[in-house]
Formats: sequence, C-alpha cells, structure tokens
Amino acid sequence: MQGVGFRPFVYGLSKSFSLTGTVSNNEEGVIIFTTGPEESVQQFYDKLLLNPPPVSKIKNSAISQIDFIEFADFNIIPSNKNGQLNLPLTPDFAICDDCKKDIQDPENRRFNYPFTTCVNCGPRWAITNTFPFERNHTTMNDFPMCDACEKEYSNSADRRFHSQTNTCHTCGIGLVLMDNLRNTIPSTPQNIFKKIAKFLTEGKIMAIKNTGGYLLCCNAGNEAAIQKLRAKKNRPNKPFAILFPSMEFLRNDLKINEHHQKSLASAERPINIIPLENYKGKIALHAVAPGLNQLGVMLPYSGILQLLANELTFPIIATSGNIHGSPIISDNLEAFEKLQYVADYFVLHHLEITHPQDDSVVKYSAKFNQKVLFRRARGYAPNYFDARINSEEKVMAMGADLKSSIAFYPNQYLYVSQYLGNLQNFDVYNRFTSSVNAFTTIFEQLPEVVLVDKHPGYQSTQFGKELAQKNKSELVDIQHHKAHFSAILGEHQLFSEKVLGLVFDGTGYGDDGNIWGGEFFDYEHHKIERTNHIHYFDWLLGDKMAKEPRLSLLSLASDDMIHALSEKFTSSELKTYQSLKKTNLLKTSSVGRLFDAVASLLNITDYNTYEGEAAILLENRIAEYNLKSCRSYLSDPEKGISATEIIKNIFGDLQNKKPTEQIILNFLYTLASSIVELAKNKNYKHIAFSGGVFQNTTLVDLLIALAPKEIKLYFHKDLSPNDENVSFGQMMYYLNIIK
Ligand SMILES: [Zn+2]
Ligand SMILES: [Zn+2]
Repeated sequence: MQGVGFRPFVYGLSKSFSLTGTVSNNEEGVIIFTTGPEESVQQFYDKLLLNPPPVSKIKNSAISQIDFIEFADFNIIPSNKNGQLNLPLTPDFAICDDCKKDIQDPENRRFNYPFTTCVNCGPRWAITNTFPFERNHTTMNDFPMCDACEKEYSNSADRRFHSQTNTCHTCGIGLVLMDNLRNTIPSTPQNIFKKIAKFLTEGKIMAIKNTGGYLLCCNAGNEAAIQKLRAKKNRPNKPFAILFPSMEFLRNDLKINEHHQKSLASAERPINIIPLENYKGKIALHAVAPGLNQLGVMLPYSGILQLLANELTFPIIATSGNIHGSPIISDNLEAFEKLQYVADYFVLHHLEITHPQDDSVVKYSAKFNQKVLFRRARGYAPNYFDARINSEEKVMAMGADLKSSIAFYPNQYLYVSQYLGNLQNFDVYNRFTSSVNAFTTIFEQLPEVVLVDKHPGYQSTQFGKELAQKNKSELVDIQHHKAHFSAILGEHQLFSEKVLGLVFDGTGYGDDGNIWGGEFFDYEHHKIERTNHIHYFDWLLGDKMAKEPRLSLLSLASDDMIHALSEKFTSSELKTYQSLKKTNLLKTSSVGRLFDAVASLLNITDYNTYEGEAAILLENRIAEYNLKSCRSYLSDPEKGISATEIIKNIFGDLQNKKPTEQIILNFLYTLASSIVELAKNKNYKHIAFSGGVFQNTTLVDLLIALAPKEIKLYFHKDLSPNDENVSFGQMMYYLNIIK
C-alpha cells in the first residue's frame, strides 16, 4: 500500500545496511534498486519483509539481480506511473501515539493542532483524488507546506519524512466555530476546544466536521439534549454511538475484555458494541440506547476528536452528521443547509473530503468472542485483502439495495467499498453512483462484466443495467442468497469442500419469485443447490411488513391466537388483513420476519423504527443462558423449520406464563439446534453462515456451543454478515460458480 511510510522506512533501513540505490512508488507498489554486497542486500530484504512499517501490509514481494548500476547515495525518487494502478488502496488510520503526544505537548510546535499526522497515521482514502498516493493527488494539495514542514518532509531522521499529509498551524487547516446562522464565534487554536466543550456541557448540539465527514455531538449524560437530537434527526429509537474521552474513562464506566480493548485502540478504531452490566456511569442510557442492554462506544481517532476529548469530563454522543437515512455529510454548505435546524453550533474546516465514511461497527459475542462486523466503513474500506482471485476479466458487482456496497476487480486486487446506505434514498443513490465513478476513474478501467441482484426493483440492479449497456459489458444477475452464501464461501476459501450454507436475513428476491430469507444451500464441486428453506408463510402488504412486526405475527398466527392479535389491530384492520391472507399469493421464508413475529407476540414491539429493531430488542432481553434449560419449539426437525409451529408453541409457553427470557432462548435454541441436527444427519463437516440474522451474537454463541467438534463453523471475518457482503458475494459467485 502507498501512504504508509514505506519509502521513508526503506530509506532508513538502507542506511543501516550502508546500501546505495533508489526507492519509488509506481502503479504496482514499491520498487527498490540497490547496490551492495549480496549478503547485506539479502539481509536488508529479509528485514524489510519481517518488520515492515507499522500500518503497511506486504502482499507480494520478489527480489532479482540485474546489471550493475552505480549509485552515489540512497534516494527516494518521485512516483512514476506508467500504467494502470495495480495495488491496494490505502484506508484511513487513527491518530498514532506519537502524534497524540505532539498535540498535547505545550512545547511542541503542533500543540493543539487538530490535523497532526505522520507517515503512520491520518486520513488517506477520505482525501484521495487519485493514486499514486502523493500530496498532489489528495485534497491536502490545497495546503502547501511551510518551511518548517518542508524541513521535516525532507529530513530522513524525522517521523514526517515524506509524509504526504504533513501540515501544521502555519501552513495547514484551521477550524472555524460558527453558530447555526453562520455567525463566526471568535476562537483561537488554543481555546476552540474549550469553547466546544463548554457548549456541550450546556446541552448544545454540535455539528463537527471530522476527517471523514460531519459528526453530530451532544453530552451523553444530558437527556434533554439527546431527545432534542432524536427529534431533529428524525431518529426516535435507533441507538447512538458514544465517544469516550479516553480508555481509562471507558474502563471506569464499562467492563471490557481484551478483544474490545485491542479493537478500540486499533488503527481502524471501530465502534464496539459492549454489553452493559451493572452500569453506574452518568450516560442517559434509555435516551442513548432505548430498550437495550448494550452500548456502542469508541475512542478518539482523529486529532480533532482527541483535542476535544482532552477538554471533556463526560462521554458524548458522536453520530454520523445526516438526517435519518441520508448519507454522512462532508460538504460545508450542505451541512448548513441540512443540519441548520439540527445543530446549535458548527465546527468546520476547508479540507475537502472526497470519500466520506461512517464509523465502522463491530461486536464480539459474549461467550466465545466471535467477531461480528455490523458496518464496514472507515479504517477497513476500500480493500479486501484475501480474495485470491485469478481472472483476466474486469468485473464490477453492484451489491444489494438496503445496505449497499460495490465490489470491483480491475487488476489483481479486489476492492470492496465502504457501506453506502439504503439506495431508496436519493442522496445515498448519488453517493453510490459517484463511488462507481471513483473506482473506474482511479483504476482507469471500465468493467467488462457487471453483476447485479436478481431483484428487478433494486436501484443497484437498474444502475448496473445502465452501466453495462453504456460500456457494452456483459450483465449477469445473481440471486441474493446465493450471493450471500458465496460471500462466506469466498471469505474462508471453501470452494474445494462440501459445505452446508445457511442464509438467514430479512428479504431477497427468490428464484421462484417469492421472498426468500431462510435458505439452506448445499455447495459442492462449484455448484450451489437450494436444498431446503424455512416453510413458506404469507408475505403481506409489501414493505410495510418489515416495518410492522405485528404483520409478521398476523401472517404466522393460527385462528386460536386471535385474542393475541385483537390487542394489536383495530377490528377493521384485522378484518381487512385477514381477508388479504386468504387471497394472498406471495410467500416468504424470511427468518427476519420470524424474529419480528416473535417480538410482536412477546409484546416487545409491534413497529420497527429502524431496520432490525425488533430482533435487536429481542436479543437484548437475554442476560445469560443455560443450554440445559433450553428446549426446541419443533417436534420433528427432520421435517424442516416451520415458522408456524414455532409461533404456535411460543404462544403456548406464553399462556403457561413461561418467562420471556426463557422463551427467547428457546426460540434461538430451536434455530441453532435444528441447523446442527440437520448437518449431523446429512454428514456435513462444514457449515457456513451469512445474512443479517447472524448479527445476533447469542445465536452465534449457541451454534458454537451446540456444534460437535467434527463440524466446523464459518462466520464472516472481514465483512459484515448483512447485505453489505452481497457485492463481494456476487463477485465470488460469478468467479467460482458461473465460470
Ligand atoms: Zn502519527
Ligand atoms: Zn507547516
């Protein structure tokens, strides 16, 4: 990768071996020419591979001898691009400890400078126009270096030697504090964060332009401020992420384990979803995460957030700067237009952000610490490292619709974009199309093959069709859940095994025209076969069904459950919907809707205000579990999974006043145990899981607990189980199943 301090590192290493030569970037990576004793050159090479710079990743390397060239010295020479780009793109890196020290040291010339970076840290993808990663290919080009910065840049002993993002107070980027009527509030670099902290203390909502886009922030202990933010952002219940001032503060408030700690402090620095046990801190929990016993937390990852954190005596909400459903905003004018009535004050700067990204989100399962990515964005995108593809064709996959992403294979690397959002939103759609353009422009390649979902109504499908038509490329449509299954096969390179695949999610357009979402697949010898599915039930009222869990319950309820329903519907609604059930032809096998039905039946919720709310609330009712006390709601798993039977038996338990927590556990146990039984009966040694339902980490833990040693389980590693992985899955399906 470029922009990770590789050339300066090589330079330093060459000196320690007294070698002469050159190091440069080109379209394929880094090229080193060196002259010296064979043994020294070999040792230099070995050491470089063994101990590369901290944030770099070496994918391939080779060494060979050429005709003698005499060099006077060792030099870093400018990038030389002769062909199309063929190397991994560089993600954004969280501020490193050395830079953190610099901005906190009153003696340092970068004291309080929010855009402090070095070769080991700072924004990369967020500010990239094109590659190779040189300053003039990024938006940092608007800020020419001052003499002091130039001096660091050309000093081989400096940490900022050849740092393309090098700036300081003198030459760099200034922060401006404004009220929401665009009146500037006088501030200096030394007092601006004190002022922001004061506003936050007073309960004000701040829109802060960070290095990846705008964040909306308010005091996480101030319930009134949070409710105001909820109302203005049009986000009634969806939990907010919390920025803690420091690891020490966080550890005082919450119990975290070594996995959380490592992840929270990593260069990717994602939001971690942490269970709340006996929380005694001052966060207004029921306003931050209504009905949940977990909290999404993160630590400062940019100079801006670090300097703000230094002034804070309380955790703050830090959520993407947008109106519910729209993409994160990064443009100053747009921010004022759209957030003027949300935020009381704005903190802005003039570093242009070319690739705005949300924060990534990760959760570890409570018992077995299985990592589950909920959102893959800042820090992870836009690379995918372990694809092992060998294809001459240039392929682009357009992904799904609700949690869209793009995958592109233009050279020898695979790129998977950040989470882009729901394409039904016009602004998200625009960001999606501009991301496609960015990929084709950076790589100077157009796709020869375009992969789309089989769903004719997806915006991504429509756009993919147009793209294929325009470029005269081949268009291939791929069934949604087969793409999911291929994604998990691809992540673990399982293409030479026989694998049972479980794809459980909300909705996807099935080969038979029904709405799939509880699918059993068999994979062997490059063929995928759908062998089973959750027994079909009625799909009622289109998209409304996903928004109202009570409709899923209505669909699955037998006649004797009419009492349970009459509390949830008016009598005329009930009459209309029941007659609809009699004439309905569209069926579904969606496990997402089964979760909805269970949540509604247990009176947890009848309406989803955000995607997956019912399922999340359901899981959050469980504190701990004892496998021995669980029982299955299916009498004969051999007959497959009947959602109707599960609902009927839960209704029975409910009438017998069984505790809700045990009913939920039984329900999860039913799914997990039937899967494991099926695998045992059919002699599968490998089970692979994909789909949004496997964001349920209790279900994941139950599967791990129930599977016998001889059966191996596969969950997503570097991708989210939800629809974000569909673009990658389409790519894997095309390259491994179709071809
Ligand atoms: Zn640094
Ligand atoms: Zn400077």
